[in-house]
Amino acid sequence: MRGTPADRFDALVIGGGPGGATAALLLAQAGWSVVLVERKVFPRRKVCGEYLSATNWPLLKLLGLAEAFGEMAGPSVTRTAIFVGRTSVQADLPRPRDGPWGRALSREHLDSLLLARAASAGVDVRQPWRCAELRREGYEYACRIESQATRQSVELRAGLVIAAHGSWELGPLVTQPQPVAAHPHDLLAFKAHFRDASLPPGLMPLLSFTDGYGGMVQCDHGQTSLSCCLRRGRLERLQRADGETAGEAVLRHILISCPAVRPVLDKAIRDEPWLSSGPIHPGLRPCYRDGIFVVGNAAGEAHPVVAEGISMAVQSACLLTRRLITARMKLHERHVAENVGRQYQAEWRRCFAPRIRAAAAVAHWAMHPQWVAATVPLLRRCPRLLTWGARLSGKARLVIDETAPRS
Ligand SMILES: Cc1cc2nc3c(=O)[nH]c(=O)nc-3n(C[C@H](O)[C@H](O)[C@H](O)COP(=O)(O)OP(=O)(O)OC[C@H]3O[C@@H](n4cnc5c(N)ncnc54)[C@H](O)[C@@H]3O)c2cc1C
Repeated sequence: MRGTPADRFDALVIGGGPGGATAALLLAQAGWSVVLVERKVFPRRKVCGEYLSATNWPLLKLLGLAEAFGEMAGPSVTRTAIFVGRTSVQADLPRPRDGPWGRALSREHLDSLLLARAASAGVDVRQPWRCAELRREGYEYACRIESQATRQSVELRAGLVIAAHGSWELGPLVTQPQPVAAHPHDLLAFKAHFRDASLPPGLMPLLSFTDGYGGMVQCDHGQTSLSCCLRRGRLERLQRADGETAGEAVLRHILISCPAVRPVLDKAIRDEPWLSSGPIHPGLRPCYRDGIFVVGNAAGEAHPVVAEGISMAVQSACLLTRRLITARMKLHERHVAENVGRQYQAEWRRCFAPRIRAAAAVAHWAMHPQWVAATVPLLRRCPRLLTWGARLSGKARLVIDETAPRS
């Protein structure tokens, strides 16, 4: 089915998570006509620790969301810790200059907030629709989208495509992961919200347990989110009681392998069923491919042990749109688009590759509680090493400052 003029846009964004919603919103604020395709109905839950780094405040202001985020999010997160065995060591978190602290907001609220803001800035949000096929035709792209409710199919056309579909869902696009055989080393991800947990407000501990790692933080509505990753091989070896879900088995494993978590969850009540995802694919990927610009997890992913993925998604969207807006009049020329793609990828890697490497090292360490335990005496003497680790993961680096993208 061919698109009508009403189905022609300056930019098409695939995916309405933090990366896609931010890219669409910034382009719409600069006067572009933008369509965003999101396959799920919002609000939707998502496997994520839901902590948003302090480095995002300037960008939240730029998006017009700082106030709403401030009203909805949980308490300021000022301290980190490592929980290993029965022990914990705490340390201060770093933050950029003396600005506000990072805070956590559940993804059902954060993602809805961003997408609603994009829609109110004029983005044509197609939801729940899935981008099923994308082809280049001369100077533009044709995208077949499918309604997840009615299976109706429509063709959209755009001069430019931004892939913001994340990295966990298989799909037909060149930028999406392709099926690979399951491996015992695969990292599967889990998350649940708890009520009445005894985590001190402001503390975000890293949990070290055999073949996995996790994190806890207080988010909105007094809930505490617990998110974690576990090797597939370990999950398969866990004994499961009749009817026990994978999430429940994972929590049991955490409580046995990392008893320091027990007092926090002693009186806690899980609010919803466990959510799972994965395997996750930490690492670097191309930021520009076959004329398609890529943001967020689709462009690269840090081990969630450092809780920086949302930040990288929204900040990469800002880095990209700044360049697109500057080059707008010439983007139809292939060499200009390729040049923008190259420069954006170089900037992306300068900003985020170091934390992807740091996160891989921390993840490896955290998945071996015996190694972590061996470093506890040193961490007790010098807790600033934990602060330094958090700094390496980007917690104090302002990628987006006051510099707004300009039309
Ligand atoms: C256990 C765990 C804990 C984490 N904790 C944190 C944390 O505390 N802080 C933090 O900053 N990060 C955290 N992260 C990372 C964070 O969740 C991701 O980095 C972030 O969601 C990436 O955002 P995104 O916009 O790139 O992709 P996503 O959030 O994955 O959004 C992609 C969207 O695209 C849609 N989509 C996919 N395919 C299509 C298609 N074909 N057509 C239309 N729509 C499509 C999906 O439905 C989805 O809504 C954690 C991750 C894990 C696994």
